[in-house]
Amino acid sequence: MMHRDPSTSLGMTKRIKRLLLFDIDGTLIHSGGAGVHALKSAFKERFGVADDLHDIEIAGMTDSGIVVSILNKHKIPATNENMSAFLDSYVHFLSLELPRRKGKLLPGVLQLLRRLKSRPHLVLALLTGNVSRGAQLKLEHYGVWHFFEFGAFADDHRDRNRLGPFARARAFEKHGREFAASEIDVIGDTPRDIACGKALGARTVAVATGTWSRDRLAQYHPDFLIDDLSNVEKVIDTLGW
Ligand SMILES: [Mg+2]
Repeated sequence: MMHRDPSTSLGMTKRIKRLLLFDIDGTLIHSGGAGVHALKSAFKERFGVADDLHDIEIAGMTDSGIVVSILNKHKIPATNENMSAFLDSYVHFLSLELPRRKGKLLPGVLQLLRRLKSRPHLVLALLTGNVSRGAQLKLEHYGVWHFFEFGAFADDHRDRNRLGPFARARAFEKHGREFAASEIDVIGDTPRDIACGKALGARTVAVATGTWSRDRLAQYHPDFLIDDLSNVEKVIDTLGW
């Protein structure tokens, strides 16, 4: 039995698939501080230490990387047991903090995701420093979790630059197709997103909706630099999506 691709038999051109890997915090949403508050509460509850985390680098870092920095700072061994206890508690507090904080979906995000989802050649996925449970809590809270087919998370590796291959492997599992580096876009709001995209050989798209300004992001030479995602048509046009 032969299967013919209907788009070919109709003489239509099939567009080459692209894999779009989105960061979460500062790119799709602002959690209104829910993430940082949940980290503080988890540390206090599990380890009995109050720390305002002012000297801990957070934006662009993975949750597991952040937890290691906090434990190291307080000379608590970063054993698997301590890491799991911290992260479990973090996820618990995150679920409580999200509805309490005044966070938001960033401008244009919902409209952009709807438009992109309607384009069959685009595969929408996540590449984020969040642990997967945290990513799901945040994006479900803001109503956009269902747009994404899969993701690479802090559970996979604590070094963000190592997450790209996990996303690519999951794309292969789901689509039976190896995405070339040139067919992948990494979209994020920090120099760490740009570095992670470059580590993968992907196109890098920096969005200045996080804590990093357009000028500061420009110093890291992303392939595209966008103020925000509010002009949906222009974003799609510029990026050839
Ligand atoms: Mg971010």
